[in-house]
Amino acid sequence: MRLENISKLRLVPGDEVCVVEEFLPGRGTYEVEGRVRSAVIGYPALNLDLRVVEVKCVNNKVRLPAAGVVVYGFVTSMKEDYALIKIFSDSKCVKYPTPFTGILHVSQVHDKYVKSIHDFVKPGDLLKAKVVSESPPYHLSIKERQLGVAVAYCSVCGVELIKQGNVLTCPNCKSVESRKVSPEYGSLKCV
Ligand SMILES: [Zn+2]
Repeated sequence: MRLENISKLRLVPGDEVCVVEEFLPGRGTYEVEGRVRSAVIGYPALNLDLRVVEVKCVNNKVRLPAAGVVVYGFVTSMKEDYALIKIFSDSKCVKYPTPFTGILHVSQVHDKYVKSIHDFVKPGDLLKAKVVSESPPYHLSIKERQLGVAVAYCSVCGVELIKQGNVLTCPNCKSVESRKVSPEYGSLKCV
């Protein structure tokens, strides 16, 4: 795509705008691994002198996650020290117009030292988490007691796990798994 033509593209949060070698991230954008992505719904505007790209909001009333807000999202993938979350709704289960990317770092999982984030969340889990940063990608925390995994599936057979005391067990293959479980585990109505 010719970069001069991209200003006609309507972007939503998470859309790739360009790579940092082409334009540096400006207002309304953020960078992940060398790729500039849109943080808002809007249209890109290029500053050719400074080689900066901005994304200008089309609608300032678009509801966005913000620091302190509790959200729901699915764990889409995991690395050694963090999990990527697809945030889809606020704490009242009101869906956002478009999903947002969240990052749960190992340091935000528990007050105690955590050796492996993989003992607390797993891909596919539905999380209740608190946003701790103001702009995308939203950094999340599940440290507080009411936060954590709200639905989880068996790593072996994929069946929804059942909470029994402090552990999650699979009603199908009987495997036992560990998570940082939210008190509302299994009772969530909005998915
Ligand atoms: Zn199972």
